Amino acid sequence: MAFDYDLFVIGAGSGGVRASRIAASHGASVAVAEEYRIGGTCVIRGCVPKKLLVYASQFAEELHDTARLGWTIGEKRFDWAALRDFVASDVDRLERAYTNTLDSNKVAHFAERAVVTGPNSLRLVPSGREITARYILVAVGAWPVMPDFPGNEHAITSNEVFHLPELPRRVVVQGAGYIALEFAGIFNALGCAVAVVNRSDRILRGYEEALTERLLKITQERGIAYRLGDPVAGIEKQADGSLAVALASGAVIAADCVLVATGRKPKTDGLGLESAGVALGGNGEVLVDPYGETSCPSIYAVGDVTDRVQLTPVAIREGHAFADTVFGGKPRTTAYDHIPSAVFSQPPLAGVGLTEAEARGQGYKVQIFTSDFRPMKNMFAARAERGFYKLVVEEATQRVLGVHMIGPDAPEILQAVAIAVKAGLTKADFDATVALHPSMAEELVLMR
Ligand SMILES: Cc1cc2nc3c(=O)[nH]c(=O)nc-3n(C[C@H](O)[C@H](O)[C@H](O)COP(=O)(O)OP(=O)(O)OC[C@H]3O[C@@H](n4cnc5c(N)ncnc54)[C@H](O)[C@@H]3O)c2cc1C
Repeated sequence: MAFDYDLFVIGAGSGGVRASRIAASHGASVAVAEEYRIGGTCVIRGCVPKKLLVYASQFAEELHDTARLGWTIGEKRFDWAALRDFVASDVDRLERAYTNTLDSNKVAHFAERAVVTGPNSLRLVPSGREITARYILVAVGAWPVMPDFPGNEHAITSNEVFHLPELPRRVVVQGAGYIALEFAGIFNALGCAVAVVNRSDRILRGYEEALTERLLKITQERGIAYRLGDPVAGIEKQADGSLAVALASGAVIAADCVLVATGRKPKTDGLGLESAGVALGGNGEVLVDPYGETSCPSIYAVGDVTDRVQLTPVAIREGHAFADTVFGGKPRTTAYDHIPSAVFSQPPLAGVGLTEAEARGQGYKVQIFTSDFRPMKNMFAARAERGFYKLVVEEATQRVLGVHMIGPDAPEILQAVAIAVKAGLTKADFDATVALHPSMAEELVLMR
């Protein structure tokens, strides 16, 4: 049977764009449908615009610190609209770059929603155009979960936060995962009053506890209020436009903005996957084998929609491996061990490999090395905040199983040290490496 395309990709995000480009470079005829904007969550309303907001908000601290270092800065003023519009223009630039990538690789793109109508067929909405393809790749990503409480229509998610008409004076952030804490840090640094409320009494579940405790302490000292174990029960809009945020305990917080960041769900509702017999898991995620193949042999899935590791570099790798496997004659899978990750909180934290709790849970006998220090940058600024590094080492082999750190530049340092952990280096290899002085990273080779 002749198909319109060898591959039809649903979703032009991190995974979909990489898979399209690589499949096309292997000689496949490829088309992609995108219902919102080319680039996907990371580029349009995730990693990239968020990091720009983090950078911008950190200037508040930098400008403050300059006074001790001999600089006189004139009147300081922050203009949210200018920052928001700059971020939007950079997102436009990146969207054009991603579109050019598709064009230069001869990948056809449709600015429409696609729904699956069978193992090899799709329909575009609203045009109604029917398309057939030898393979379909589901790369539709995930969508923010909005908990069900009265007045939740007054809350926003990370989708809307980049477009706020003005900087809110008081922000309630519901959730304590990485997205919640990153925005709490941004708003706090920009001078807003921030309260983080969360159902559980922990922040950043799954991250190394020594680091999350340190982050909690530092951010409290920086002025973020935490109401842990006390989630939002309802929101009422007041006559003056402000929001009365009622918590489960009965406490009420006045706010101008409520940002809900309580997780992301695979975006499979209404996608028609049942028409092709594609099996889904309990959270709506597409179930796949290690190559990304679903229960329907002509349909594959990559990225957040599979709900394995919701990170951009992982979606990109899965998309690349899929294209090499199906169109490049080079079957390969994605490795999920030693994936480094960061929280761009203020200060940031980052980690790779096993946490101490995970290592012990997996039956390893471990030795723990820590460094609790005041980064030089904080000394200059007369800030008491301390950094913390933790190495998890397997006792028998001395292999470094995990590295976790909180402090200025932790994500930048961690990406480099992740190579050593992935390579299986030992504590002796770390110790044999001469320190680069003076730096924050040198602590990594000085822990005894
Ligand atoms: C606020 C925020 C911050 C983040 N920060 C980081 C970070 O710092 N580091 C990191 O690694 N990851 C980060 N992420 C996660 C990262 O963005 C995702 O893991 C990544 O984008 C997943 O790629 P994907 O290809 O699976 O899906 P996406 O990039 O979400 O792409 C899916 C695309 O499919 C489209 N689509 C959906 N349904 C259809 C349909 N039926 N028809 C046509 N198109 C459709 C969507 O519009 C979207 O463009 C962040 C996410 C958020 C929300």
